[in-house]
Amino acid sequence: MEPQDDPQERARHVAARLAALRDRVARAATAAGRPVDDVRVLLASKTMDAVTVRAALAADAAARAAGSGTAPVLLGENRVQELVAKAPVLADAAPVWHVIGPLQSNKVNAALRWAAAVQSVADDDLALRLSARVRERDVPLDVWVQVNVSGEPTKHGARPQDARDLAARVAALPGLRLAGFMTVGARGPDEDRVRAGYALLRAVRDDVVASGAPGTGDARGLSMGMSGDLELAVAEGASVVRIGTAVFGSRPATGGEPPGGGTPAR
Ligand SMILES: *Cc1c(COP(=O)(O)O)cnc(C)c1O
Repeated sequence: MEPQDDPQERARHVAARLAALRDRVARAATAAGRPVDDVRVLLASKTMDAVTVRAALAADAAARAAGSGTAPVLLGENRVQELVAKAPVLADAAPVWHVIGPLQSNKVNAALRWAAAVQSVADDDLALRLSARVRERDVPLDVWVQVNVSGEPTKHGARPQDARDLAARVAALPGLRLAGFMTVGARGPDEDRVRAGYALLRAVRDDVVASGAPGTGDARGLSMGMSGDLELAVAEGASVVRIGTAVFGSRPATGGEPPGGGTPAR
């Protein structure tokens, strides 16, 4: 039997890797001259079953109970099917779910049953649908504008040159709160290129916040950096890093990998 087949063993692995990840994030923040609690960890749980995700939530709760001082992890799903399968099972742990993959319009209602935020808003159409769906809520829905900073054709996201205007339009829609900007970084070993992409997202964010356009005042968030490159993202100001493999281990080779959404940048 593989060690990972034993649930208790798997839970210990996840807990150890989460602790190591927290250390990595803390070191990256410190190296960037930033307070450690500036950087929130979102666990990207695609392809992982609810038992494994629960182990991560439990490990996180235990670390906080022991005085880690860290904010609770967020959870992110790329696919609505996975979200609606896992979220009810984990509801007792009350995790905060973000949608981090492309959201088809026919899945909006299902996603919003569980998601507190949609990080993958890349066009007006989705923003308008979300706004129409949530406008009668008391609490606005947090949305993030996803930008394709690398220009890689497989990647989801608005073009950088369109992102500022899109963000202003999204921010003005009723029922939505523009919380920031999200990107999946460039792939490959060229750290300068990866980092330049993150710097570009930060520049877009800075321009939008400085514009003073209605609804843009809260848009300070930067969701960027994954298991392979979080240090570069934290150095460029990431407020949320989205982590899969560094905590959960490698994913099955087939399935679950959204276009441009998945593998470590290096
Ligand atoms: C899978 C995924 C991540 C995490 O990727 P890792 O390299 O496994 O850390 C982050 N963001 C998105 C959008 C993802 O799909």
